Amino acid sequence: MKTASIERKVSDGHRVDAAEALALYQHAPLYVIGRLADEIRRRKHPEPTVTYIIDRNVNYTNVCVARCNFCAFYREVGSPEGYVLGFDEIFRKIDETIEVGGVQLLLQGGHNPDLPLAWYEDLFRAIKERYPAFRLHALSPPEIIHLSRLSRLGPEEVVDRLIAAGLDSIPGGGAEILVDRVRRLLHCYDKATADEWLGVMRHAHVRGLRTTATMMYGTVETPEERIEHMMRLRDLQDETGGFTAFITWSFQPKHTELGGTEATGTEYLRTLALARIVLDNFDNLQASWVTQGGKVGQLSLAFGANDMGSVMIEENVVRAAGAAYCMDEIEIVRNVEDAGFVPKRRNMHYEVLGDPIFREREIPRMMSLATARADGAGGEAPELQQYPARSRPGRERRGH
Ligand code: SF4
Repeated sequence: MKTASIERKVSDGHRVDAAEALALYQHAPLYVIGRLADEIRRRKHPEPTVTYIIDRNVNYTNVCVARCNFCAFYREVGSPEGYVLGFDEIFRKIDETIEVGGVQLLLQGGHNPDLPLAWYEDLFRAIKERYPAFRLHALSPPEIIHLSRLSRLGPEEVVDRLIAAGLDSIPGGGAEILVDRVRRLLHCYDKATADEWLGVMRHAHVRGLRTTATMMYGTVETPEERIEHMMRLRDLQDETGGFTAFITWSFQPKHTELGGTEATGTEYLRTLALARIVLDNFDNLQASWVTQGGKVGQLSLAFGANDMGSVMIEENVVRAAGAAYCMDEIEIVRNVEDAGFVPKRRNMHYEVLGDPIFREREIPRMMSLATARADGAGGEAPELQQYPARSRPGRERRGH
């Protein structure tokens, strides 16, 4: 199939529809789709900079009742390997993050029935009291839906209460593919339908929060469904303008119930480039080097990405599924500069904060990613005694 007329349309700055996107995705040579994406990136970001953020991906609990079949991270309620981090453990992680120049926590976790909304509010307030300038990029839409069910409040009210407690922005996790057929097959329909996920983001945007959007591909979805996912994000972005960035990565199959094989690096680049073409109202696309490795991460900068994501200090979820590349700030900067760009540190709003911090002051090198807890170290902090547990094992453990 010839795609020349669609290529011209993209080059002229026009929007593609779903059928045109599919034709490009399936028939345009990789270098062509990459060149189109690169043209768009250059139009949106004529300056030669590539940004990144220093933050820490903290998973406050691995206990989860959702049981998505693509997830190797969660533990069942009552599992001896289930954990909930204590406030002091989280404070320590923030101290370490600040030491290497970090500005925010990406805080996400399992759907733990024994953590009521009050625990989150207390945690957020405690963090803001100790670290007023530190940002909380926390709780993906399915976690908000889970808290809404647990607290019997609407998702909007949960978002409002979390904002009042200190929530700064919402990560786009849990989107997987925003098509309910796919969500049913992945056992993640119950945690949040496509409409529910989008509904939380819509409300957050209306309330002035910025959020990101993600896509995990390479499970059971068709190419058409990947494009439907992008179209739904594009529609919401037209409506609210609240998304700061889009991040896509391939399903990591190891140790998951679903299993299978991982998508290739070229499929990643093709998907990233297509996203840059379809999501014409998104300013920023991140390179997912944590799942793809530094070299594909570097190539991503020629396939539509303008941001290297996070200098991750800690990672638990991808690592549980068998993959987690590690790069500290020095490595990220080397990859960016070798690709011909100027690296700049940013915040969640993509405002440039400065040059690489390691060139301003000495910071400890991170040769491996930290984990939430040592492998298999379950248990919860003593302060959880004061919060009501919903599950029977939780009630027994807390003596309620
Ligand atoms: S992906 Fe998230 S919601 Fe799904 S099982 Fe894993 S921790 Fe739970």
